[in-house]
Order: sequence, then structure tokens, then C-alpha cells
Amino acid sequence: MTTCLGFAAHQANAPLTPWRFERRALRDDDVAIAIDYCGVCHSDLHYVNNDWGSTRYSCVPGHEIVGRVTAVGSAVTRYAVGDSVAVGCMVDSCQQCTPCLEHQEQACSSMTPTYNGMDRQTGQVTLGGYAESIVVREAFVLRVPPALDPRFTGPLLCAGITVWTPLRRHGVGAGMKVAVVGLGGLGHMGVKLAAALGAEVTVITTSPGKADDARALGAHHVLLSTDPKAMQGAANAFDFILDTIPTRHNLNPYLMLLGRNGKLVLVGAIEPLEPIHGALLMVNSRSIAGSLIGGIEDTQALLDFCAEHNVLPQCEMIGIQDINTAFERLKANDVKYRFVIDMASLQDVNLG
Ligand code: NAP
Ligand code: ZN
Repeated sequence: MTTCLGFAAHQANAPLTPWRFERRALRDDDVAIAIDYCGVCHSDLHYVNNDWGSTRYSCVPGHEIVGRVTAVGSAVTRYAVGDSVAVGCMVDSCQQCTPCLEHQEQACSSMTPTYNGMDRQTGQVTLGGYAESIVVREAFVLRVPPALDPRFTGPLLCAGITVWTPLRRHGVGAGMKVAVVGLGGLGHMGVKLAAALGAEVTVITTSPGKADDARALGAHHVLLSTDPKAMQGAANAFDFILDTIPTRHNLNPYLMLLGRNGKLVLVGAIEPLEPIHGALLMVNSRSIAGSLIGGIEDTQALLDFCAEHNVLPQCEMIGIQDINTAFERLKANDVKYRFVIDMASLQDVNLG
């Protein structure tokens, strides 16, 4: 076991504070990683505040992890000390069930989240990447391609793969009209990736002030969801809508925008929604689907795609001391477009 310094929430709605805890000793198939950067996902805020009623405290959030290998177990074959690596939302699964064999580990009933999960061997609560180090089973470690800047790689591990999976699964590409609802961490990656895949992209936003950014990120059009006339004018306009809104909301105004056989994929609100009007699904044979993060093989493919096509998140770097302010700003929809913690800042933390 090694002692590790991180930041933890010890109860709901309390600020994160410095906390020392133990990382497990290396198992044969484990990789030890010194964390350099960790992205800040809206899910981190949901967990810290126990929005979903499932948080196990003390909670060390963080599942957009980038770092360097510091040690490997005796059975590790793919990584060596010094390699540039990343870890996303999962750290283990059974590796034997149908979803695992199909490289969709996120659908395995034993999938272990990077934090707030339970270690399959010890039953201990997993602790995430707002910390100086982590120990992860080799099968859940990703390789950071040399062409990717590690400072900006973290958000690909959750925001990126969460939008990439449905874009690929539903065949988004040239000739398709795609709308991304919510220009935040997930949404801005949705815009960049859908545009890189050749789609015609519209951002649907509540924030008029984000219109220029949306275009700079690759959107061809911007639609204000608070403007009923503009929304009415876009009726039946889209083949595919990616909905990243992080809270309970009304889907009906968005369903109305789908054309024939159009699909809306929900990735944001992990909670009950407003009632859906059945007629809106019947007209145009529209459908609604959901999507949860993405598999390890797909995540590696995304990292490789982003390296090849120079697609990187837009990040605001922060010190770990600023994490509580960053959470306040995330709540207030004031981030462009992903906070990333520079973990070197842990060296300045005073434990008192
Ligand atoms: P974020 O950075 O806060 O972005 C969310 C965006 O949604 C905001 O920037 C805002 O964009 C829009 N928005 C916020 N509140 C809204 C409201 N009440 N009504 C309409 N639009 C609103 O959050 P994120 O990190 O992208 O995460 C989004 C959600 O995805 C979170 O709930 C997170 O837990 C979830 N998530 C799901 C998965 C998955 O596997 N499915 C993975 C990761 C995260 P505008 O200003 O443009 O309106
Ligand atoms: Zn996330």
C-alpha cells in the first residue's frame, strides 16, 4: 500500500478538502500511475453533492485522468515505467460476459467505476483522480498517443467518449444534420467530433453569449432554445440530436426538431424527465435512446482519432486549491468548456 494525497468530499454539499488515503499494493495485472492532470466533469459535482443519492463518502472524484506509469505488476505486458497513459470512468469489469467480450465493458454488471464504485476483490470504495496517484488494472489503462498534448487529453476520457459512442453507434457523418443541446463539457466535444466526422452541426443553447464560441468550435448554426419562434422554425430539421442537459428537463421541444426517423440520444440527465408527448414520437417515427460512456477499445480509438485529426477539448487549467470555486462556476454554467486540474498544484497544499 502507498499513501496518496488527494482532495475529498466527506459529506454532501461540503467543500472538498485535502485528504490522505491508501492506494492498494500492485496486483500482478496492475499499473501504478502518477497523475499529472484530471478533468472536472459535471458528474463529479453530482456525486459530491449526492444528487443521485448513491454517494459513498469520503468521495475522491475524478475520472478524466492523465499521467505517467511509475510501476507495473509482474503480469503487465502493454505498459512500462514512463509511458504516458490515461484512465477514464471505469477501472474493472468481469472481462467474461457478452458486453465485455464485445468491448462494451460499461455494460458489464460488474463494471467498477473509477470512483464511488466497489473494488471487486476487497469491497473497498474506489477513489478517483483528484489525487497524486492511482493504481488501475492494465486492461483499463489507455495509451496517450505522442501527438496528443497530455494537458488537454483528460476530457476525452469521459466527455469525449460519452459523445463519441452515440455519434459512432448512430452513424453520424457527412450528409447528416446534427444538433447538440447544451454547450458544456460534453456538448463542446459533441460539436467538435460531429464536425470532424463531417456532419452539419447546430448548437442548441440557453446562452446567447456562447454563439461565437459555438461557431469557433466548429458549429455551422446556433439555435437559442429560449426563442420559441426560432425553435418553431427548426421543426423537423435534424437527423440526430445529442442532449447533454445535466438536469431534469422537457424533451418535447427538442423531439419536435427531429425529421423522419430522427433520433434523440440522451446523455446528460441521469434522472426522471418531464412527461413525453407520445404524438411527438409517432410523427416522423422519431425515437429516443440513451448512452453511457463507452468501451475501452472505443476510448482508445477516440484518443487515436483526436491525435490524428488534432481534435482537443477547450480547457481552463486550475490548481486543486481552486476546485470548490470551479464547482460553483460549473453549477452556474460558467466554464469554457472544461476545467482541468494541474495536479502539480498538490505540492503547494498545506495539510495544516
Ligand atoms: P456542463 O459542462 O455543466 O454542461 C452542461 C450544459 O448544459 C451547460 O453548459 C448548458 O449549456 C446546458 N444546461 C445547463 N443547465 C441547463 C438547463 N437547466 N436547461 C437547459 N440547458 C442547460 O456538464 P457536462 O460535464 O457536459 O455534463 C452534462 C451531463 O452529462 C451531467 O449531468 C453529467 O452527469 C452527465 N454525464 C453523463 C455521462 C454518460 O455516460 N451518459 C457521462 C458524463 C457525464 P448552454 O449554456 O449551451 O445551454
Ligand atoms: Zn464524467
